Amino acid sequence: MMGKLLAERVLPRFPDRASGRIGLEALDDGATVDVPAGCELVVTTDSHVVKPVFFPGGNIGTLAAAGTTNDLAVMGARPLALTLSAIIEEGFPIADLERILDAFADVLAAVDASVACGDTKVMPAGEVDGIVLNTTGLGAAPHAVSDAEFAPGDRIILTGSVGDHGMALLAAREDFRLATTLESDVAAVWPLVEIALSIGGVRAMKDPTRGGLAAALNEMARKASLGIEIVETAIPIHDPVLGISEILGISPLEVANEGKAILVVSPDAAAAIVEALREHPLGSEATVIGTVGEEYPGRVILATEVGGRRFLDMPLGDPVPRIC
Ligand code: MG
Repeated sequence: MMGKLLAERVLPRFPDRASGRIGLEALDDGATVDVPAGCELVVTTDSHVVKPVFFPGGNIGTLAAAGTTNDLAVMGARPLALTLSAIIEEGFPIADLERILDAFADVLAAVDASVACGDTKVMPAGEVDGIVLNTTGLGAAPHAVSDAEFAPGDRIILTGSVGDHGMALLAAREDFRLATTLESDVAAVWPLVEIALSIGGVRAMKDPTRGGLAAALNEMARKASLGIEIVETAIPIHDPVLGISEILGISPLEVANEGKAILVVSPDAAAAIVEALREHPLGSEATVIGTVGEEYPGRVILATEVGGRRFLDMPLGDPVPRIC
C-alpha cells in the first residue's frame, strides 16, 4: 500500500529539479544534492502542526514548504531541496493529503526546488491530530547572511504587511466564529530576497514568523547589541488585521507572518532595494520601517503615531498556539 501511495500520489508531484546524482525517483536509502561551486550548504529544519490544517490562503503543505524555504532564503541561500516527512493519523482522507502535497509542490515549483527524500508514518486514530509535517531544507549561498551583522545607520526594510497569517488563523478557528476576508500571507520569499541580493548592500535578514515582527526585531537587536528604532505608522497593516486585533486584544506586531522578510540594508542601498521589491507582486507594500542606532542597545524602540516613543518588547507568551 505504501509503495502504491508513493508511486501514484507522491512521485508524480515531485519532479527532480536538484542536480543530485541520486534523486527522489531512485527511491534509494538517501539522496544526493549537488551544491554549486563556491557556495556554502545552508541547512534548516522545521515541524509543522498548524490548526486548522486547511486555512484561508493555504494549508499545512503551503506552510511547510514556504516556512522551510523562507528560512533558507533569509540566510541568503537559494533553496535546492527539501525533505518531507509526514506523520498522519489513521483515517486521514487521501483527498486531503493530495491537496496538501499539491500545495507543497506548488511552493517548490515557485522557487525551483525539489523534494530530495521523504518518509511517511501512520499513527493510530487519536494518537496524532490529523497530520504533522517535518521538513529539512538544503540551500546554497555564496556567502550565508546572518540575522545580526549590521551597523548603526543601516535601514530596516519590511517586504509587506504584518499580522495576516496569525490573525487569519485565529479568525478561522471555530471557537471564534469570526467571518472575515482575511487570508494568510503564506508564500515563498526567495524571489524577493534574490532581487535584494542582486542589488547588494544586504547586511542581515530574518523572517518574522512566530512572535511576529516584535520577536524578530528584538532577537536581531539583542544579538547585534544595537538599538532598532521603528516608525509605527510606517508598518503596513491591513484593516481586517487591525479589526481582529482590536476585538481579540492581540497585537498584529506579535503574531506570525509566513510570507514576509525583514531586510537590514546599508543606507545607500535602501531606496533601490525598496523600489525593486515593489515591482514584484509579493513586495508591492515593501517599505523602510526604521533604522539601526546605538541608543538602547539590544532594544527595539517604537516611535508612535502620537509622537511618543516606547519600547517594543519581546512578546511574553505565544498568543496563538499551533500557528505554524
Ligand atoms: Mg526564521
